[in-house]
Amino acid sequence: MLDDSLKQILRTPGLILWLTGAGVSAESGIPTFRGKEGYWQVGSRNYQPEEMATWAAFQEMPDEVWAWYLYRRGVCRGAEPNVAHRALAKAEERGGDRFLLVTQNVDGLHLRAGNTLDRTYQIHGNIDFMRCSNECLPAPVPMPQGIDVAWEKGRPVTDCELQALRCPSCGAPARPHVLWFDESYDEANFRFESAIDAAKQATLLIVVGTTGATSLPMHIGTITVQRGIPMLVVNPEPNPFSALVARTRSGAFLQGTAGQWVPQLVATLPGR
Ligand code: NAD
Repeated sequence: MLDDSLKQILRTPGLILWLTGAGVSAESGIPTFRGKEGYWQVGSRNYQPEEMATWAAFQEMPDEVWAWYLYRRGVCRGAEPNVAHRALAKAEERGGDRFLLVTQNVDGLHLRAGNTLDRTYQIHGNIDFMRCSNECLPAPVPMPQGIDVAWEKGRPVTDCELQALRCPSCGAPARPHVLWFDESYDEANFRFESAIDAAKQATLLIVVGTTGATSLPMHIGTITVQRGIPMLVVNPEPNPFSALVARTRSGAFLQGTAGQWVPQLVATLPGR
């Protein structure tokens, strides 16, 4: 049950900005990066996501990086949106232009649940798309037909598949459409300026299932704190966002899972 102060916060007029991370998809069975299934084995060595998800790794071992992404794509494709994703789709349906979602997730589950691309900024990309590694395409393209969707863990990419994983325009190697740890945000691919603008306009920020380990999400949190708007943080564990809430005392840390909290929060939101 939500207490009265929480209900009051949820009645704040204006733009409600939701910020989601891997935790919102954990209950769909997609491992988070910090979880124990995060690493990837190449030969006898275990690589952490921070090493695999880099332009440098792609330069050095493109087929291994592709194999990791194709495996993760299979996990995402095999997962279904959970109650939190579905509640967020309902929040958009009811909230219209008072709703905006910034997600770090690349799994596409928010869109599959019913959120629209107009009001969902995928600031780390989408694993179901690829781009030209020379950036010659105006927009990312869907993964080619014929690339196995249910990828077995550890299975190497074949030469034939690598041929398909090429830019359809210039023929250069294609790369997964994700933001890597050694790359920077931009507007064209990742809606960077739009996400900052949303933080400047929002009247309430709701952060669900993220550690806040990447720069843009923390920047969004800091902007909203500086503006003095309330923040709600849903996470099973305290994190940098809950620390921000504790410092400002404007909002609340709702300890628990996305599935426990998000449907309740959405059910309490007023309509347009
Ligand atoms: P993270 O792995 O760093 O952190 C996950 C967070 O979710 C933790 O704070 C954890 O306490 C919390 N959490 C775990 N279970 C939860 C639940 N049931 N409900 C609510 N919260 C829960 O993930 P991150 O902060 O999003 O950032 C890491 C990067 O990982 C991002 O760039 C993202 O693109 C990428 N990533 C994405 C996916 C995905 O698309 N599903 C999965 C793994 C990693």
